[in-house]
Amino acid sequence: MEHSNQPHRAKKSLGQNFLTDPNICRKIVDAVRPSGDDYIIEIGPGQGALTEHLAEAGLRRLRVIEMDDDLASRLEERWPTLEVVRADALKFPWESLNDTPCKIIGNLPYNVGSKLIWDIVSQVVTLERAVFMVQHEVALRLTAEPGNKAYGGLTAWVRNFSRTAYLFKVPPSVFRPRPKVDSAVVAFDPLPAGERPADPERLAGLIKTLFQQRRKQISTILKKRMTPEVEAWFQEQGLALSIRPENLTPEQFLSLSERI
Ligand code: SAM
Repeated sequence: MEHSNQPHRAKKSLGQNFLTDPNICRKIVDAVRPSGDDYIIEIGPGQGALTEHLAEAGLRRLRVIEMDDDLASRLEERWPTLEVVRADALKFPWESLNDTPCKIIGNLPYNVGSKLIWDIVSQVVTLERAVFMVQHEVALRLTAEPGNKAYGGLTAWVRNFSRTAYLFKVPPSVFRPRPKVDSAVVAFDPLPAGERPADPERLAGLIKTLFQQRRKQISTILKKRMTPEVEAWFQEQGLALSIRPENLTPEQFLSLSERI
């Protein structure tokens, strides 16, 4: 597709904040531990700040998903052999990656980061490792422990599929244009197949129901579903009926979803 030779004008609607510091880009790419056998997918390559380092890593396969046509054309011109998928990552069929091991990386657009991570960790069963830069607040959510105010539905969901690690904070000054908030990089290491939820839909339903009313006691939220079996579950877990959603561990969400 044709594009002008004018410099690209960042589109706010697509969360375009481009990284300008090569050292930070290198650090983010190193965090996914690229090696010659890897198949890596990058979400939102933009002007290629991370892609450049990935392209140098001599990967088995590198594919990028970019929604902005103008940027996609520039990437194809710069790296003629790069596999550029022009698509909305929110609609990408993640299950289609499940015939081969892969890694996923991206400086994610802020408005869609949480939703993409929710889908990717649960749908890509062949995922070996992922590294995403997100808003700092989202990074805290992804890595929070129960009882912490950052702990929420996204935490309970993601941690049933993956371990998460907060790697480092990234200030607004290394982006053009500058975002209003800090960012941070988070790594994801998927749990072994046997430890993943057998019925993710059930788990998602319970997490959403409970976190819609996070200040209430779980027994109040679930009033109509408090069967003797569910009460026995609280006893087995050594939990008071007055406990609130933010105090359940990710494993307890899974276990309760299997009982209810
Ligand atoms: N990776 C580049 C960097 O670090 O400088 C750009 C990161 S920028 C924060 C996010 C990129 O994702 C932009 O290139 C934007 O066009 C693209 N993008 C936004 N929404 C998208 C979506 N739903 N699907 C695919 N790409 C998207």
